[in-house]
Amino acid sequence: MTVAETLRDAARALEPVSTTPRLDAELLMAHALGASRSDMLLRHSLDAVPDGFAPLLQRRLLGQPVAQIVGEQEFYGLSFAITPDVLIPRADSETLIEAAREALTGKPPSRILDCGTGPGTLLLAALSIWPQAQGIGIERSPAALAVALGNASRLGMATRADMQAGDWTMPGWADALGRFDLILANPPYVEDADPDLAPDVRAHEPAKALFAGADGLDAYRALVPQVPALLTPGGIALFEIGSRQAAAVTAIALAAGLIATLHSDLAGHPRALLFS
Ligand code: GLN
Repeated sequence: MTVAETLRDAARALEPVSTTPRLDAELLMAHALGASRSDMLLRHSLDAVPDGFAPLLQRRLLGQPVAQIVGEQEFYGLSFAITPDVLIPRADSETLIEAAREALTGKPPSRILDCGTGPGTLLLAALSIWPQAQGIGIERSPAALAVALGNASRLGMATRADMQAGDWTMPGWADALGRFDLILANPPYVEDADPDLAPDVRAHEPAKALFAGADGLDAYRALVPQVPALLTPGGIALFEIGSRQAAAVTAIALAAGLIATLHSDLAGHPRALLFS
């Protein structure tokens, strides 16, 4: 079989397990060939199907996310190394970066904080926009912190991204951090028993990065009230939210003395709140 035929069959086989079967097949094939996806697509009439493809497809058919199989995920045009210890960057989270960029046009931030940075997603994407900025990424999972450190080097930002162990539920965690012009966070916000959470996400991605109590709001209740003391005058914060959490998180922000503005993702779903 040719690469083209194999891709077609693989995409069909992946239909029951994936919302992006064709893309998944292409990414796995490119990985097996050691090529970029675009190179693979350009050359695929010439290449033989590598032996390594079938086992990769098998893992995907069993539900493992593509990013964990190939060990990387693109976000905001950057390639992040990914392990099962970190939340896989989602395109929806680019909403936060775009909203920050828009809000800070003409006033580039000097200091950026990312609370719960995981593989470094939001911090490194933001630092890629503002080359003069310095950032701190806080992460409570040691395994995730190691991935974040690796990505700061991988993306050439090790001197600007200070990845630190920390937990915002611990008193005093922010005492030595100072203030920030931009605070970013994609905290855990899934309800513990959320029936809508994709089974593969629950099975393969770290629970600590996903779940935040019975109503999914535990992380906001702990972190949002601490935001005013961490912002410079005129500073802003952008928090990712679940699509049904805008009202509840806005109320938490108001009680903390913050004004909240809603931003939606490309699908039109509420996705982020800007606090100022
Ligand atoms: N958007 C993710 C999901 O629904 C959840 C991310 C998070 O909890 N921060 O799979």
